[in-house]
Amino acid sequence: VAPPPTVSLDDRFARELPEMALRWQAEEAPDPRLLVLNEPLADDLGLDPAWLRSRAGLRLLVGNLVPDGATPVAQAYAGHQFGGFVPRLGDGRALLLGELSDGEGRLRDLHLKGSGRTPFARGGDGLAAVGPMLREYVVSEGMHALGIPTTRSLAVVATGRQVRRETLLPGAVLARVASSHLRVGSFQYAAATGDVELLRRLADQAITRHHPAAAQAGHPHLALFEAVVAAQASLVAQWMLVGFVHGVMNTDNMTISGETIDYGPCAFLEAFDPTTVYSSIDHGGRYAYGNQPLAAEWNLARLAEALLPLLSADREEAVALAVESLGTFRPQYDAAWSTGMRAKVGLPAGLDDAVVSPLVDELLALLQGNHVDHTSFFRLLGAAARGDVEPARLLFLDLAGFDRWVARWRDLGPEADGMDRVNPVYIPRNHLVEEALTAAGEGDLSPLDRLLEAVAAPYDERPGLERYAAPAPQDFGAYRTFC
Ligand code: AMP
Ligand code: MG
Ligand code: MG
Repeated sequence: VAPPPTVSLDDRFARELPEMALRWQAEEAPDPRLLVLNEPLADDLGLDPAWLRSRAGLRLLVGNLVPDGATPVAQAYAGHQFGGFVPRLGDGRALLLGELSDGEGRLRDLHLKGSGRTPFARGGDGLAAVGPMLREYVVSEGMHALGIPTTRSLAVVATGRQVRRETLLPGAVLARVASSHLRVGSFQYAAATGDVELLRRLADQAITRHHPAAAQAGHPHLALFEAVVAAQASLVAQWMLVGFVHGVMNTDNMTISGETIDYGPCAFLEAFDPTTVYSSIDHGGRYAYGNQPLAAEWNLARLAEALLPLLSADREEAVALAVESLGTFRPQYDAAWSTGMRAKVGLPAGLDDAVVSPLVDELLALLQGNHVDHTSFFRLLGAAARGDVEPARLLFLDLAGFDRWVARWRDLGPEADGMDRVNPVYIPRNHLVEEALTAAGEGDLSPLDRLLEAVAAPYDERPGLERYAAPAPQDFGAYRTFC
């Protein structure tokens, strides 16, 4: 069956950057079955959801039906993994099918994860299990609904092939949509080839696709770097404000667009604690919740290094420019975080920072000391601002400490209006995600569907969804994620 005329995929990445694009095809999926489809996203991409559900549509979603004119490729990239440089990573189990235009005419990558081994697979099997692909689906869609820039999830299709992990698991392919898959690691790869012309082409594609204003700047490549610094400062501040722990902030998992990418061992904070680590492989806590701004800055320094040949022919001058621009990360991050935190606690923007900042510091110390659930607290603080303090108060053991803090906060005149628009009531809580994945593994997709419904409107409290707003039960224990 031929794809309908609406599926027309461009091959811009492959055409403009052939040195970084390896033509490849997906492994045959013996028995593709749809587990979840994002109909609004399909519509936005001009893909007919009814057709995507058809046999031919599923074959497109696992990479076995390649539309005429499309050129699926595995993308080459490098990356620092937990601080160690790996010159050749690349899509070991993923393919870029091509680009399509969304409803606003923006170019979007259609990308498959779990589609079989590629020449970048090294020791890996090229496959993905159903559970982790559903986790990426629900967490990325939850992040999108929270208003945080992210790759999107179009569909998860079970392949009918088994995947060997600790046990045999059902395999799946995730169809992912992103404004591009250009990463810090893409620039590291191009820089490591020593081909400055390739690096320039890559930078120019990044400018046109993500940061077009840089093209008008006096020094477009320096402006590109500054735009990435700004986008990442804003992104990571949003992660911190919502309690998102990415889990594996390697340079190959940091986009140039400023979208969150690669939902592996990610999780949301339960009790507030900057040292929180969920990933089973992050032994040193490099990517702990509280380290994320530093990790982002470190990654941006690696991007700066890769860009040096484009910044100036004179190496010393290039370094000076890079260092100066990198120096804008901290103030931009701090400003984004402080502004966001003020909104979370409902304090007006006009208040003196010398007053607000110690109050916020004290609050965070109280939350940490009392093991208070991050999401519940901020949501209930909105109710406290409306006069109903007791629900928030009940989250604390140190009631006197909480009362003292609330009295000072009250004196500053918090405004309840708007707090519920920045403090979500529903996030993809770890125990709910696990519950949904376990049920899906047993063939029951309804818990996943209900969770998706809750997190699709995270700020909008609805009757009947109380359990989606509640912290994990005590017996859920310490959460560990695997990727
Ligand atoms: P990640 O930690 O998910 O960012 O992946 C790091 C690198 O490992 C990338 O080059 C991936 O393509 C590759 N990779 C991860 N899992 C597999 C797998 N099962 N088979 C082949 N390559 C993989
Ligand atoms: Mg990755
Ligand atoms: Mg991954």
